[in-house]
Amino acid sequence: MDSYPASAVAAPAFDLSGGHPALDLVNTLDHRFGGEAPVELLVDYGALLRFARQTELLDPGQARLLAKSVRPQAAARALRSVRELREAMAAAFYRNVEGRPPPAADIRTLERHFLASERHRELHWQEAAARNGQAGMAWQWGRFEKEAELPVWILAERAAQLMLSDAMPWVRACGADTCRWLFLDTSKNHTRRWCNMKVCGNRMKARRFQARRGAER
Ligand SMILES: [Zn+2]
Repeated sequence: MDSYPASAVAAPAFDLSGGHPALDLVNTLDHRFGGEAPVELLVDYGALLRFARQTELLDPGQARLLAKSVRPQAAARALRSVRELREAMAAAFYRNVEGRPPPAADIRTLERHFLASERHRELHWQEAAARNGQAGMAWQWGRFEKEAELPVWILAERAAQLMLSDAMPWVRACGADTCRWLFLDTSKNHTRRWCNMKVCGNRMKARRFQARRGAER
């Protein structure tokens, strides 16, 4: 059975303006706020694999293996799981942006995902790395590489790294009220306002320019 052809994994489709896979994941529910209905960009498991490829959370071999071996039922479960992780992350990040603590239920959801991610790893010794003067001991996904949830565990791992780090205050929401995508502000003075200057920055500048001209008339 081969429900997700390898070709479906190749095409890049996601805007990675967030600058961190956890934030890019939250941004896969577009138009989360505002009058319009939200747009789901993780439409199926194939889309999740494409997202994981594009963010380099999975290498091509891992993505191909999953595309080939994951059954539809397991794929559907993994898709529900990644959306659940995403929405708990969204609640925590957007509250954080507003300087408020995350809802207790979302902390429990995140905890469940973070622990699941930790449970599905194997500790391996890499002789070649050790001989190179690097750490020989390393976590690997090992026998879990064929599991539908692998991209969800990897995303949970990256989300945990960000949420438990000092970089949390630099998670921002785009200043365009029709966008509000999350991004990691790595600018020198932490003054970045837009998820993407070319898209939202220019749009807002154009709007201000028009408003000013309107006021002058
Ligand atoms: Zn934006």
